[in-house]
Amino acid sequence: MLASQLRRGKLDQSTFVDHAGQALQDSYGDAYDAGFGDADGDGTLDDTAYRATTTQAAAGKQREFLIGLAAAVAAGSVSEAALSSRLDMYAQSVYPVYEAGFGSGLSSTGQVTEIVWHAEGDADTCEPCDGRDGQSYTPDTLPGYPGELGICDGGPRCRCVLEYTFTPAQEQEAA
Ligand SMILES: [Zn+2]
Repeated sequence: MLASQLRRGKLDQSTFVDHAGQALQDSYGDAYDAGFGDADGDGTLDDTAYRATTTQAAAGKQREFLIGLAAAVAAGSVSEAALSSRLDMYAQSVYPVYEAGFGSGLSSTGQVTEIVWHAEGDADTCEPCDGRDGQSYTPDTLPGYPGELGICDGGPRCRCVLEYTFTPAQEQEAA
């Protein structure tokens, strides 16, 4: 595993950041595809560029954290427990990318007319998400996805849910 190689001095920090960043980007790609598939997305929408931008941006946002992690691991100041909780955080950071893929998948088979943001609205809900609770968006005005860095202060712990109003392509033609 990358972190133990780094710890044993077999990997320099920048190589660690590059490899871990690439691994993250790959898992974001998988998450996007899973979301797209779960929305029964098909090939009628060319989302190649959007998929690339979304997964690269998601990986890019983690880069500074990876750099910090690499330095801490190399310095031996990260316990196994801390490391494993950090890796869990990375694993959970695929969620907003899954959501992005899901949105694309829906858009490929019809038209998304409304997206309503639902937050838990309890004491643990972050301010930005609380402010979006019950707000109505379109795919063009949606500020981002639940748990996205810079969108939600809770990051991977975000419990927000998006509710899509969706007209499948067949019904659009019939209407
Ligand atoms: Zn949130």
